[in-house]
Amino acid sequence: MDERAKELLEKVKLTAEAAADAASQVAGSVTKRGGRVVTKTKRTLKLMDLNNEIELAMRDIGRMVYLTHTGTETDEEALQARLEEIDAKYAEIADLKAEQAALRTTVVCPVCGKTVDKNDIYCRVCGEKLQ
Ligand SMILES: [Zn+2]
Repeated sequence: MDERAKELLEKVKLTAEAAADAASQVAGSVTKRGGRVVTKTKRTLKLMDLNNEIELAMRDIGRMVYLTHTGTETDEEALQARLEEIDAKYAEIADLKAEQAALRTTVVCPVCGKTVDKNDIYCRVCGEKLQ
């Protein structure tokens, strides 16, 4: 790998710890607004948005790394901001998925694959012990 790109990636690595802190702060703030009722559809749409935004940020980062390789000066703050943005979005996705799992009222039987009530002790279809 060429030196400029290597140097950039080393800097990115050094900021990883700070980014993780920022992400956990964001995760906490997302959990705190729990009083609001979010519908399943809204959550699903939000998850899709977050995944798309992550893809766009990833593309930006790839472009920045490539430009570094070609000798263009890298805006390191912009790069760092994009990295932190992705951390925050992944934290938000984890929160949304946890919310979804908590609200789920059904589970899928591991043996027959049918959807059954999550409080059922035995599968209503095949009789497998679920809990
Ligand atoms: Zn079953």
